[in-house]
Amino acid sequence: MTYEKDNRRDFDERVRKMVEAGYETVAREAIACTRCPLHKSAIKRVIGKGSCHPKVFFIGEAPGESENETGIPFYGRAGKELDKMIEYMGLSEEDWMVTNTVKCHPPENRKPRVNEIECCKPFLLAQIILLNPKIMILLGNTAERSYCPEKKLEWGVPEEVEGRTILKLYHPAALIYTASKIETQHAFIDKNRSLWT
Ligand code: URA
Repeated sequence: MTYEKDNRRDFDERVRKMVEAGYETVAREAIACTRCPLHKSAIKRVIGKGSCHPKVFFIGEAPGESENETGIPFYGRAGKELDKMIEYMGLSEEDWMVTNTVKCHPPENRKPRVNEIECCKPFLLAQIILLNPKIMILLGNTAERSYCPEKKLEWGVPEEVEGRTILKLYHPAALIYTASKIETQHAFIDKNRSLWT
């Protein structure tokens, strides 16, 4: 058995066991995880926020400082933008759930590294399998790098990947820094409403 295959088997086994054990176990194991260096900068693990039966599953990048303190994803400024986006999409509370590529806050707000994303991915995959959303929305390139690293999706153009519909939209933080993107984001949303309505 090669190192890579061995790792793959361990990865698949982690996902399978968590799916079998249920959502509470995913949260519990993520809270106890020390597999990558990010656990050292984590105050709280940030697992997810939203409905247990979401139509739409958003994947962000990584918890920021306020998320690290509260344990709630998108609690800070980017969260306000995400709320506006969700409102524009016409979603109600029971329609959506949000998480990140990693459950721990990276120091100095840096982007999560490939090995950290990979280490945390079994939690993300188990969440997706258990919640079985109708559509997954990747918020920015880091989410794409986590969920489908072999792909380069076009912004606002849905694709089927392994039997799931995915759509890449701008990360809410990008809308704070480049307000001109809001109009484009709205156009992407308008074009794709049938995916969640
Ligand atoms: N940005 C993210 O990608 N996730 C958060 O939880 C907060 C900000």
